[in-house]
Amino acid sequence: MSKKAFLKAAAIKTADEKHRQTIAFNMGKYDAAVAKGKQNYLNLPAARRHAKNIKWQVMEHLPQYLQEFEHNFTQRGGKVIWAETAQQAANAILSILQQHGVKGVVKSKSMATEEIHLNEHLEQAGITVYETDLGEFIVQLSGEKPYHIVTPAMHKSRADVATLFNRLFNTPLSATAEEMTQTARRQLRPQYTRCEAGITGANFLLADIGGIAITENEGNARLTTALPRIHIAIAGIEKVLPSVKDLAHFWPLLATHGTGQQVTVYNTIFTGPRRTDEAEGPEAMYVVLLDNGRAAMLADPKLRQALYCIRCGACLNACPVYRQVGGHTYQSTYSGPIGSVIAPHIGNPKEQKDHEHLSHASSLCGRCTEVCPVNIPLHELLLYNRRKMAAAGATAFAERFAWAVWKKMMLNPRLLQTTENNLGNRLFSAIFGRIWGRQRSLPQLPPKSFRTVWQEQQQIKNSADNE
Ligand code: SF4
Repeated sequence: MSKKAFLKAAAIKTADEKHRQTIAFNMGKYDAAVAKGKQNYLNLPAARRHAKNIKWQVMEHLPQYLQEFEHNFTQRGGKVIWAETAQQAANAILSILQQHGVKGVVKSKSMATEEIHLNEHLEQAGITVYETDLGEFIVQLSGEKPYHIVTPAMHKSRADVATLFNRLFNTPLSATAEEMTQTARRQLRPQYTRCEAGITGANFLLADIGGIAITENEGNARLTTALPRIHIAIAGIEKVLPSVKDLAHFWPLLATHGTGQQVTVYNTIFTGPRRTDEAEGPEAMYVVLLDNGRAAMLADPKLRQALYCIRCGACLNACPVYRQVGGHTYQSTYSGPIGSVIAPHIGNPKEQKDHEHLSHASSLCGRCTEVCPVNIPLHELLLYNRRKMAAAGATAFAERFAWAVWKKMMLNPRLLQTTENNLGNRLFSAIFGRIWGRQRSLPQLPPKSFRTVWQEQQQIKNSADNE
């Protein structure tokens, strides 16, 4: 999506009263829950620092931790697949499913599968995909992409979902949230036993035990992994934690910042397929480790910090831009501040290029940095992206011209003086009024510049001294 298309979509969304009301309502509930949840911490800043230090340690030694994970997971009978690109990951998953003769998969929520466009890839090959997370189920039925990394259907009101369910399942328009949940359950339950494979993401990869940790509120991930014969998990390579013991810190931190809960309802650790002495579980378990641009981010000491992200969604909810334009406007898997930081580095070169402009979708207020549980300096990374773009000459001619004029004026006091006062006002209105002034009144510059006021005061002072 080009910058122009982003601005157009953003303008439409910002003027959409219904969207604003729905988001304000849902975000309001989130804000209240998270503020309450944070009170459970005696020293939240220390908890955030500790989390950041663990992720720092992981990123400084990522290859070793990934190898440790692979070794331990393989020892337990699991198989690890390394995917350098989205295409490789999607092909590998399709190939596993075809080897096992799979015709349908149940899937729990996973942004990594969105990133590799897995649903489209599988459906083109004739494999039916059933999203089992309620929010994902709703957006799948609507033919949409997830709106938010934690709450995929955040943009929909109860009435929107009731209308959708009425059309598809003939539920009454007055159905309550509980009644619609029951309808979704009736649709999905048979698929867990019918489908031969379950696909999940992973919130964390645990190096020391060779396991994956999944956290969820609906129990659908447990059903997705317990009933089908095959379990395939896909995770970005940055998801590693050194030890299972680290979950004691990360599970509550993720829950608090994601939904305001002390801890999410269902937390499960998977350490490979069913063993000979076990009655239940999948016959085969695979973990796909996805690079897709992450290794290049890791190679950049500054950008590496973006890989600390635990996908809690707090920065999206805090961002004044996201709250106005909404998740779909970004047209990238990851939206909001973290999406704007990483989208220009994720995927193939074309996808990266298409998302470069997102680094400018920020007011740089720093609210995202304030709320991030792993202390990622998001607004600094947005500036870093912008600097990289500018250094690569990827800025518009108008912008380069404006900065060249500004620099010339700043370095030349006489020139600066000639643009003061009324001329300055006119220039200000002409340049910025076209960009920012269409729907708001711009401030008037003061009639006298600081330089003029200073000179006048000096003259008054000198005259007083001479008297
Ligand atoms: S960048 Fe921080 S606040 Fe944003 S989703 Fe990731 S962990 Fe959460």
